[in-house]
Amino acid sequence: MDEPTDPRDELRELVSKLRAELARRARAGAFAAPAGPTPRPVDAGGSGRDERPHQDRQAPPDHKGGAGDSLARDAGPGHASLGDEPEMGATPGRPLAEVRRELGDCTRCKLAPSRQNIVFGVGDERAPLMFIGEAPGRDEDRLGEPFVGKAGALLDRMIAAMGWSRDRVYIANVLKCRPPQNRDPAPDEIEACKPFLAAQIDAVAPRVIVTLGKPAAHLILDTSAPISALRGRFHQMRGVPVMPTFHPAFLLRSPDKKREAWSDLKQVIERLAQIGIDPPHRPKTSST
Ligand code: SF4
Repeated sequence: MDEPTDPRDELRELVSKLRAELARRARAGAFAAPAGPTPRPVDAGGSGRDERPHQDRQAPPDHKGGAGDSLARDAGPGHASLGDEPEMGATPGRPLAEVRRELGDCTRCKLAPSRQNIVFGVGDERAPLMFIGEAPGRDEDRLGEPFVGKAGALLDRMIAAMGWSRDRVYIANVLKCRPPQNRDPAPDEIEACKPFLAAQIDAVAPRVIVTLGKPAAHLILDTSAPISALRGRFHQMRGVPVMPTFHPAFLLRSPDKKREAWSDLKQVIERLAQIGIDPPHRPKTSST
């Protein structure tokens, strides 16, 4: 039986093309390092807090080879989604503002006519920690910001329990527009939208990614395994550690799962600490 085209294969291809283009521009001098700190681009979800160049943020003193070399060794036996290609988090891509401009008033999939707002992303463009959810819901569609309803309030508490805050991490979704009746994202919608998530990941170049719920984990990790089988351990995407955990909306329906989610997030805190990144605030000792 013919296998349907896997949209994640095309994500890999697209990221490879993006990298080739970045390399081409770098060779042409388009990304020559400025004399001073890199000016922050026009906000496309960034907070303006961390003005360090990407290179400074991504390479703590004891880290010599980018996200992939040291982290790959102990990332556990998870699904290695993007093989041995260069690590996605090691080299910053285009600024988020540029990615947002390219997205424009997008009509690339059938979700465009029914949306109120494109929900691009929010947070610090240079965050070491990135959360990726599924798709906007009703409140997000209305306000144009991810995770702003009850699930968003829970995500905020989860982030706060980790010692971080919404404006110090980066939050995005697989889809930028709300599926009607909050149904699951369709494969063709994911395929149309995934280049922009890939570009967001390249722009932010996070040191650790947390996926929230099944669609995000499946896209990022190139798997169809149940989230219960994926969570609880680190996987990798191009050398970047990825921790799948439950979606906050699921946790609202199944509060007994919060303990497991908190266990996942504590591992993220520990992983960041291992690479010299401490949260801006003291993490809590138990889930909220
Ligand atoms: S979901 Fe993505 S691809 Fe589809 S219309 Fe919205 S922004 Fe465009």
